[in-house]
Amino acid sequence: MNHKETALPGAFMERMQRLLGGEYEAFLASYGQERQYGLRRNLLKSTEEEFINRMPFPLEKISWAREGYYYDAAVQPGRHALHEAGAYYIQEPSAMAAVAALAPKPGERILDLCAAPGGKSTQIAGRMQGRGLLVSNEVIGERARILSQNVERMGVTGCVVCSEKPERIAALFPAFFDRVLVDAPCSGEGMFRKEEAAREEWSPEAVQMCAERQAAILEEAAKTVRPGGVLVYSTCTFSPEENEGTVSAFLRTHEEYNIEETELEGTLSQGRAAWIGQPAAGIGHTMRIWPHLQRGEGHYIARLRKRGSTAGDLREQKAEQKGDSGKGMWQVTGDKKLCKLAEGFLRDDLEIDGAWMERHPGQVVRFGDQIYLVPEEMISLAGMKVLRPGLQIATEKKNRLEPAHALARSLLPADSGRFYGLTEQEALAYLRGESIVCGEQKGWMVVSYGGYALGFGKASGGQIKNHYPKGLRKTL
Ligand code: SAM
Repeated sequence: MNHKETALPGAFMERMQRLLGGEYEAFLASYGQERQYGLRRNLLKSTEEEFINRMPFPLEKISWAREGYYYDAAVQPGRHALHEAGAYYIQEPSAMAAVAALAPKPGERILDLCAAPGGKSTQIAGRMQGRGLLVSNEVIGERARILSQNVERMGVTGCVVCSEKPERIAALFPAFFDRVLVDAPCSGEGMFRKEEAAREEWSPEAVQMCAERQAAILEEAAKTVRPGGVLVYSTCTFSPEENEGTVSAFLRTHEEYNIEETELEGTLSQGRAAWIGQPAAGIGHTMRIWPHLQRGEGHYIARLRKRGSTAGDLREQKAEQKGDSGKGMWQVTGDKKLCKLAEGFLRDDLEIDGAWMERHPGQVVRFGDQIYLVPEEMISLAGMKVLRPGLQIATEKKNRLEPAHALARSLLPADSGRFYGLTEQEALAYLRGESIVCGEQKGWMVVSYGGYALGFGKASGGQIKNHYPKGLRKTL
């Protein structure tokens, strides 16, 4: 027996042996094997072909998420300029399956209720292609800040990051969303191979406490789904109480929901009806990922559909026909002068294409000296704990605007005439906060590496002055 096996909690092992029977030996043996490492292509930033050509190390596709890849741990992709540039997000392979089951579409309204640190939110944003509204919520303030940073690093545009309790989100957004993800806090048994802390914190009482908390969160999440909408529930644990049990108990009091099959069926394992009393109809269509059967850590996913009309599907079709989320140009519902100022700055100083503005409809809004583009589908932000009300465009200084880092991150080379490509050595210097030697350029530049925007710089006298935010600077 190796160290990892001895460290597993006894009561957990006993329970898994009882449940898995003949399968238990293979399950236990997986704890002695190396775990799988995954990263996810940022769908906002490159096509599959571009990505594969740009990546300097070998990748192997993950079968359940079209943007997911396995990599060899030795390559350390977290210590690469392309990671800082938001080309990809490092994410446990199984964790990519819940968003595949959610199947977000451009133009939709989507809620990620338990969103930090943002793996699934940034995956959802990729699939939405910058069209529609994503509300990413995380109840714990400190974790919400990390979520907000990841949303920025990945260049996400139509996303509001907030930090509210599920009850408050339910009250603010009744029957509002086309799709809702509840990636619930859980006992984390699926993370035992990866995280020592998960093994240490586990107890049968914690499992029970998690099941009760999940029931309460699902209850609130259900209120935010529009008729005909989708609710996906996921955990990274094995315990039936937190998985088939939570979903079955929810369905007993929510006749308006039923379990739906997903395209992942056949690729992943089935939910286990025999492991709980009173399993809901269709519980076999919920999904499990097992470390001894699939190449990933433990996970559970259920996709539920709320009965009712298909109003949101019509909005989706409209968005697809129009190629955007509906209205076209920036709305001037608030401060017309501010909107004109921001539009002029983007067009003249940053040479941002009019097509970019058409693809990003919203309201230009001032919060203190910060100017944001709030997604057009967003309801009033009044009374909400909001960390990021949309895409930050600029900071207002005396008589001028300074572009916001988040804006640079949202741009592709085709969006602006101010892109300036760096070599790898220059990119590493830029990320450390150093100036870059340039030619005759003048004014704001979108400094990029490998086709990915890193941030802004200001050129004059043969140098690009570094505007990479001080708090993000690092030596790789
Ligand atoms: N979806 C995230 C991702 O992919 O990066 C991971 C989410 S993690 C499994 C669950 C989150 O739920 C944690 O960030 C935790 O802080 C949050 N949480 C804890 N208690 C909660 C509660 N009572 N209601 C809502 N969320 C809660």
